[in-house]
Amino acid sequence: MAGFYKKRKGKGKGSRTIPWQPIAVLVLMAVSFVAGMWTHSVLNRPLQTDAGLTYIEDIPVITDYIPEGSRARPGGLREIKYLVIHETDNFSAGADAAAHNSFIHQNANAEEGIVSWHYTVDDHEIYHHLPDDEPGYHAGDLMEADGGNMNGVGIEMCVNEDGNYEQTLVNAERLCARLLIEYGLKPSKALKKHQDFSGKVCPAKLIDSGRWDEFCAAVEKKYEELKAADAAG
Ligand SMILES: [Zn+2]
Repeated sequence: MAGFYKKRKGKGKGSRTIPWQPIAVLVLMAVSFVAGMWTHSVLNRPLQTDAGLTYIEDIPVITDYIPEGSRARPGGLREIKYLVIHETDNFSAGADAAAHNSFIHQNANAEEGIVSWHYTVDDHEIYHHLPDDEPGYHAGDLMEADGGNMNGVGIEMCVNEDGNYEQTLVNAERLCARLLIEYGLKPSKALKKHQDFSGKVCPAKLIDSGRWDEFCAAVEKKYEELKAADAAG
């Protein structure tokens, strides 16, 4: 009977074989697959496209592109390097984002004085006139390489006397912060005044009141907030 209770003679602890080789092969395959996918996504990354914004917090973003083929829409994709800040310099009552959207469409095939930009911001909404990855005519530097027209997203802020300029600034700060994140741009490098490209005093009110740095600081603060919120999911 003792035999029943005898421990079965098994293989010693140390002699148990774990199939390391197939596991190692599987791990290597998984690692190379992930690396391959990553490389593929980097190499085949589509050109920066449009951010496709519909809202910035509670501010609607209305997309109404200038028709393709218009003189004001030269087309061709480019690299986005800057956000180029402007003011409309139109103080008339009613000269809000919707009014500038009408203007930009009406003048899209004008004989001369062609202008186009990407966004117009007022105190309650934002109009989007050009896809972000296309150049426009707003920085006064033609199609100079590395210039405002070629590589900038043009953002016009309204200064209509019946608008709330302070709220317009806040809305523009939010838009800038979101676009900086969308395009992986650094606020300190990418945020530019029209003046930086052509010397025109624009955005005039912001420059004349000595508030450009304050605007940039507010954008950067918003940018950090949004990044933290995005990271938190
Ligand atoms: Zn300007």
